[in-house]
Amino acid sequence: MKLLEERILTDGRLLPGGVLKIDSFLNHQLDPLLLQEMAKEVKRLFDGEGVTKIFTIEASGIALAILVGLEFQCPVLFAKKSKTKNISDDLYQTEIPSFTHGGTNTVVVSRDYLNASDRVLLVDDFLATGAALVGLKTLVEQAGATLVGAVTAVEKRFQGGGDKLREQGVRVEALARITEMDDNGIKFG
Ligand code: 5GP
Repeated sequence: MKLLEERILTDGRLLPGGVLKIDSFLNHQLDPLLLQEMAKEVKRLFDGEGVTKIFTIEASGIALAILVGLEFQCPVLFAKKSKTKNISDDLYQTEIPSFTHGGTNTVVVSRDYLNASDRVLLVDDFLATGAALVGLKTLVEQAGATLVGAVTAVEKRFQGGGDKLREQGVRVEALARITEMDDNGIKFG
């Protein structure tokens, strides 16, 4: 998506460890008009797939997910990072290693909001190693729901997560695909 790529080139900052900072429009301050255009593109990509639920993880996936939910006119659900590791009958639960902070988060979602009749579209801001989306996929599987696909604002292709998910048979779409990013700049493809 040209608009997003241009914005990344103008506003993005590279941090050590393969992290792209786009705090001015996606990860801290939010640009609702850009997010709305991104959500329309997601709708175009997954139109006709019978999506009944948008599923993301707190916190930074939520903004885009809400706008995508508006496009599909369906509820938006986010997995919560839980402080306890206690297994509860009311929850689906999995562990997700954190790309940006290190360590592992226990993430949970209520059984009330994800069920076997759902056709789920996963939404997140970044796809790096794929751990976050694989974790969400695990929760979808625990619920017996159907995974329609996954969409990320930015896929950092050189970190391999997108291909890992595609090898597992998941349809993965990215609004911007970064093939290289270093001191020489950011390349899309
Ligand atoms: P993964 O689980 O695919 O390795 O990483 C995805 C998660 O880590 C996303 O939910 C996102 O919050 C965070 N993340 C991964 N790479 C980046 C990055 O380059 N910049 C920012 N801001 N977040 C990232």
